[in-house]
Order: sequence, then C-alpha cells, then structure tokens
Amino acid sequence: MSRFNLYILVLIFPTILSCQAQENSQQAVASTDHFEFYINKWLNQHHFLFQMAKTLAKDSTKVKDVFPQWGQLNVEEQKLTTALLTHYQDNWIANSLLFNGGLYRIKRTITYWQDDRESLSYKEDPELARYWSEFSPIYERLFWPTHRKQNQKVLQHNLSRIKAYEAQATARLSQLSQEPWPSSKIRVDVTFLADWAGAYTTTNPVHIVTSTKEEGPEGDWVETLFHEASHKLIGARRGKVAELIQSLAEAEELNIPRQLWHAVLFYFAGAVIKDLLVADGISYELYMLRENVFGAYQEALGKSLEPYLAGEDSLETALKDLLINLQ
Ligand SMILES: [Zn+2]
Repeated sequence: MSRFNLYILVLIFPTILSCQAQENSQQAVASTDHFEFYINKWLNQHHFLFQMAKTLAKDSTKVKDVFPQWGQLNVEEQKLTTALLTHYQDNWIANSLLFNGGLYRIKRTITYWQDDRESLSYKEDPELARYWSEFSPIYERLFWPTHRKQNQKVLQHNLSRIKAYEAQATARLSQLSQEPWPSSKIRVDVTFLADWAGAYTTTNPVHIVTSTKEEGPEGDWVETLFHEASHKLIGARRGKVAELIQSLAEAEELNIPRQLWHAVLFYFAGAVIKDLLVADGISYELYMLRENVFGAYQEALGKSLEPYLAGEDSLETALKDLLINLQ
C-alpha cells in the first residue's frame, strides 16, 4: 500500500466509522428472543399528524380536542401546522397506511431516521419532508415528551410478559398455522398512534407498528403483538390457512366469507395468548370477542376451531367445518 493510499484510508476511515455510528445510533430500546422494539420520533410524529389530519378533515371544529395546545402556538407556528395538516389531507389521509405504496415508502424511509437528525430529505414528497423538519420543534416541545413516555410505559409494562410467553406463543402459533416463525428478530415500532386499528404490519420484512394511546385490559397489548406478527404466517394469499381455505372452497363449491383468513388469525392469536394468561392466573377475553370483530363468524369459529386447538381435528377438517358453518 502506497503512502498516498494510506493517507486516503486515514481520511476516509473516521468517516466510515462515524457513518456507521450514526446508522446505529438509534438503538432498539428493548430486545427479546424474537422482537426488537424501537421508539422513533419521526414515525411517532408522522402517525400523529396523519391521524390528526384525518380527524380534522371529518370535523374541523375538533381542533381543541386533538390539539389542546393550539393556543400555545404563535401565529407563524399555527400557519405552518395548518399548512402541514392540509398537505396530509390533500395527499395522504384518503389512503391506507397498510396498503398504499406511497405511505409504505414513507414508513420504510423514516423508520431509519435518527431522532436528532436535522436536515431531512425525502425525494418522493420533498414538501412533506420540509414540513416535518419545520414542525419537529413544535412536536418536540408539545407532544413528543408525553408520547415517548406513554410508549415507554406501555412497553415496560408488557415486556416481561412478552419475554415469558414468546417461546411458547411462537411455537404454538407456528404449529397452529403450519408455517415457520420468522428466523430473524421482528422490528416493532412503538408509536403513540398507528393506523385506525391501533396496529398494522407489513410483511417483507416483517415490520410492526403498534400504538400505546389506548390501553386495553392486561394482556391486550401482548395479544396485539402476537396477532400482528402472525400476519407473516397467515395472509389473504399467504400460508397454509389461506391455501386450505381456497382449495377446500373450490373442491366443495363453498363461498369464502370476507376475510375469513383474518378471522382465523384473530382466533388463533387470541386463544394462544389467553391460554398463557389464564395459566398465569389472569382472566382474559379474546380481543375479537371483546370488541366484536367478525361478530357474525364468532359462533362458527368457536365451534369449528376449538377441536383443532384441542388436537382432536386436523386443520383441514377444522377449516372445512368452518366454511360449511358459514354458508
Ligand atoms: Zn390483523
């Protein structure tokens, strides 16, 4: 190696190191055998603004409810905030955080932005990135301390239970869905608000965004986490459950009720976490029963899936029975 090359290396090496340090500077706030949890300011701010813009689009008089600190903003800040919310309303809020490509790419990008990063650019929507930067001091002053604290509180409250349950829960959900659990740790971003359902998951790679604003009963956040992760195992057109529903319906000329795969996922994740909670002495009702999700399917789900959960039926028999019960 010539002295010139060595000189270049000496110049470049600290840069490489500092880039790596920056890349890694947002560390997971908690880690378990199967999950890594993050609390990212930009992702929190984005979901907060998205939901606020959505609420205000429906009813603009609600500004005091969703933004009680409005009076603490000076005229310039109020102008900026209004322009930013209008930008969300004009461009984004009609779309699904889960299915829309543009919102997916926003999430994928800002997930890896560091909290203290100052100059932000986002080629696909540079105007939005400029708004984010300008609004960031307002968010940091008025909302982020509360949001971060709530995220930390809910995560800490549930972490020991997640660690205690994850070996059994992942094995059982994998067994029930007949699909392998992801081999690498799943990234979970903990946010004050997420989508309308409170949590959503994109699957390639698996990335969960789950909210903390609404605190359900003991165990609810744990069920939500394992439900979201199970989206990798059970999808509309992914995994053994969907494959069997499709082939059984075709063979028997049966109708497939809307989102039946998702109802099965709700039932499996709920039942698995309920069993673990009950063994811990905590009485628990499945989220889907408590919130009446897929209400019209619930009786059939219990009747057809319980024998499978008890090891008395095959998955094929259980799903065929479920399809017949729901015709
Ligand atoms: Zn789901």
